[in-house]
Amino acid sequence: MKIPTVQFTEEQEKFRIEVRTFLQSHMNQGPFKAKCDSWLSGCDPSFSKLIAEQGWIGMTWPKEYGGAERSTIDRYILTEEFLAAGAPVAAHWFADRQTGPLLLRFGTEEQRQFFLPKITKGECFFGIGLSEPNSGSDLASVSTRAEKVDGGWVVNGAKTWTSNAHDAHYMVTLVRTEPFDGEKKHKGLSQLIIDLHAEGVSITPIKYLTGERHFNDVFFENVFVPDSMVVGTLGNGWAQGLAELAFERSGPERILSTFPLLNELVAELKEGGDVAGLAEASKLIAEMWSLRNLSIGVAKVLEEGGEVAIPAALVKSIGTKFEQKIPEVARLLVQTFPRLDAERKLDRYMAESILHSPGFTIRGGTSEVLYGIVAKGVVAG
Ligand SMILES: Cc1cc2nc3c(=O)[nH]c(=O)nc-3n(C[C@H](O)[C@H](O)[C@H](O)COP(=O)(O)OP(=O)(O)OC[C@H]3O[C@@H](n4cnc5c(N)ncnc54)[C@H](O)[C@@H]3O)c2cc1C
Repeated sequence: MKIPTVQFTEEQEKFRIEVRTFLQSHMNQGPFKAKCDSWLSGCDPSFSKLIAEQGWIGMTWPKEYGGAERSTIDRYILTEEFLAAGAPVAAHWFADRQTGPLLLRFGTEEQRQFFLPKITKGECFFGIGLSEPNSGSDLASVSTRAEKVDGGWVVNGAKTWTSNAHDAHYMVTLVRTEPFDGEKKHKGLSQLIIDLHAEGVSITPIKYLTGERHFNDVFFENVFVPDSMVVGTLGNGWAQGLAELAFERSGPERILSTFPLLNELVAELKEGGDVAGLAEASKLIAEMWSLRNLSIGVAKVLEEGGEVAIPAALVKSIGTKFEQKIPEVARLLVQTFPRLDAERKLDRYMAESILHSPGFTIRGGTSEVLYGIVAKGVVAG
């Protein structure tokens, strides 16, 4: 497993400053408030629209689909700056991170022409329809089924924990298009794009620990999906879905969900001249730096079309534990009064971090499952 070291060019450093300047002038002013875990819970379509106007959604995609043909490393820099600032980027997150690359790789020309320009304009958001009430880690056991009818498919079943389904327009949904074969359960799965406003779709909230509406149950009752909304090859949904996971698991969002808290902690320690506290906080920064280098290296390998399933699982499993550690260390170094409506940023970020943390090591694949992937890969390799 060779992970390259990435040195940023002068142009890339300039781009970082451009993004940072943009965020400084828009964040914490008017409606846009910084928060921890903003990539999942900071859902604000108007902010996404603003980002789109900068050409920053789908920025690596071909120009003919509304992209800017920038590099993966540019996108990495952009994402890091969004997360560090706690910017509300959740509305377009999945479409930008997953759906676009999926359609570029497996979608039809018609799907690309239809969806990608809308995504890059910040006008079309996607949900990810994988988990079901009885299928989480054992995803291949999904039972939402699609039956063939004239001109399309009729879908029945349910998805759960679907982040931001209530704000999304469509969902890439893993369904069974062939009868379940217990011996070969990975077979006969397909990915369908389902219009979340179609007849027969109902979406009900599952409240987060914070009380926010974040994820949902999504039910399908005889929902018609036209043939043109099948992604890639029928029956190849498992392999296509796996290709998406590397994008999902290795990004800076697996390290930086509680970064605004770390930043605020360091500021407070500096202000109070707490040298011993700063020495403790610096250990977190050193850890973050190593994880970040791993994550950027994986981004580079992904850009070059390399295989990254194992290092991506490493980034996700170690990175999310790190994100959880930040509030644990912070509470030992400074006195806080965690409250979601607190005026003092440190108190608010602390509350958000504590209440969001349990999900970090579950979403996108639990740590135990990722350890299994790493262990099996290393043994096989
Ligand atoms: C904040 C958040 C957002 C989410 N958003 C989405 C979304 O948008 N779309 C979506 O489809 N899903 C989403 N999920 C669901 C998430 O992907 C699942 O919760 C996750 O895959 C685990 O599945 P499960 O909850 O069914 O737990 P289970 O799979 O039932 O696991 C229960 C426990 O058993 C352990 N376990 C299971 N299998 C193994 C094994 N083989 N080896 C060792 N241990 C094992 C697990 O580690 C876990 O501790 C989200 C979850 C969270 C927390």
